[in-house]
Amino acid sequence: MSSVTLGILGGGQLGSMLSSAAKKLNIKTIIFSDDLNSPAQNFCNEFIFAQYDDKNKIYEFSKKVDVITYEFENIPFNTLYELNKLKTVLPKPSINRLIQHRLAEKDFINKLNIRTTRYVLIKNKEELQPLDDFLPGILKTTTMGYDGKGQYPINNLNEIDSLNIDFKKEYILEKKIKLKKEISVIVTRFNNNKYEIYEPIENTHKDQILERSKIPAQINKDLFNQSKEWAVRISEELKYIGTLCVEFFIDKNDNLYVNEIAPRVHNSGHLTINAFNISQFENHIRAVCSLEQIPLKKKFNAEMINLIGDQIIPYRQNYNFKDNQFFFDYLKKEIKEKRKMGHLTTLK
Ligand code: ADP
Ligand code: MG
Repeated sequence: MSSVTLGILGGGQLGSMLSSAAKKLNIKTIIFSDDLNSPAQNFCNEFIFAQYDDKNKIYEFSKKVDVITYEFENIPFNTLYELNKLKTVLPKPSINRLIQHRLAEKDFINKLNIRTTRYVLIKNKEELQPLDDFLPGILKTTTMGYDGKGQYPINNLNEIDSLNIDFKKEYILEKKIKLKKEISVIVTRFNNNKYEIYEPIENTHKDQILERSKIPAQINKDLFNQSKEWAVRISEELKYIGTLCVEFFIDKNDNLYVNEIAPRVHNSGHLTINAFNISQFENHIRAVCSLEQIPLKKKFNAEMINLIGDQIIPYRQNYNFKDNQFFFDYLKKEIKEKRKMGHLTTLK
């Protein structure tokens, strides 16, 4: 029996799935979240509800755990920094800080000679004027964006006034590419050149929210190899410990671009729970808790669909799932539009 207790910052469905994976490995989990209705409280051993800047609660949390990780990236850096003085935080806080900021993240990727879309920092409306060259483009907040939040597609400069953009925030303007496909590569890094890597996953988005993920991705061998190589290069360069996801774009000419890095387990990897011997969640726990690294084996091809908003309702009522179908209900108290409520994985 292991006597390790893992602290997890964040209490969404990724926290739930991390807690379930930890339980299988006899690791206790304590979830810390600022949301009283966190779904992960149904899956962890202990739940602490407090604000992320509540120094007393953060201290109390640190006393109870051996190692700390997080399930979403928008945690105040100072919280991670302070916690890291008390107990090890993995992946290390400096990685989170880099990736939290879209500009720093993209600069970092380009320094590794890895392609991204073209982008430019925008601090005020005037700076947009001479940038015809980046249009059609997408204006994205440099921090705190997810699921397309904080993004404004811009086709031409005349539109800018009608978009009511809040210029108190900083943005990057990204040139839109002609997307053929989106894929993601999930890597769990244990140590220098020690990692487990999942094959590329093909993703479909709707309204900038992930709708479907499947393996195998329908891509050529070069893209298959290049995406994996870039994901490994990124994780090695960051000296990352744990599971990380790199999101890619493929354009009409089969050029590969890194879109963004998620310093955590990822929605596109939910299918790893049923399709592999070790899921992205279990691998994350193994890496951050210094457990044994087990060679990854795919058992099945698979497809996952996200159940968003009231799409979950018929699934909650249907108990006749086939043997190859796995339904996950995140047990969120309230159904909301655009909220991820659950998912269904079908093995092929
Ligand atoms: P988030 O941080 O909200 O996930 P992303 O930058 O990943 O934001 O954008 C969400 C989705 O919007 C992408 O998965 C893609 O479908 C689309 N998108 C974003 N940027 C571009 C771009 N430069 N060109 C084409 N499509 C894009
Ligand atoms: Mg994204």
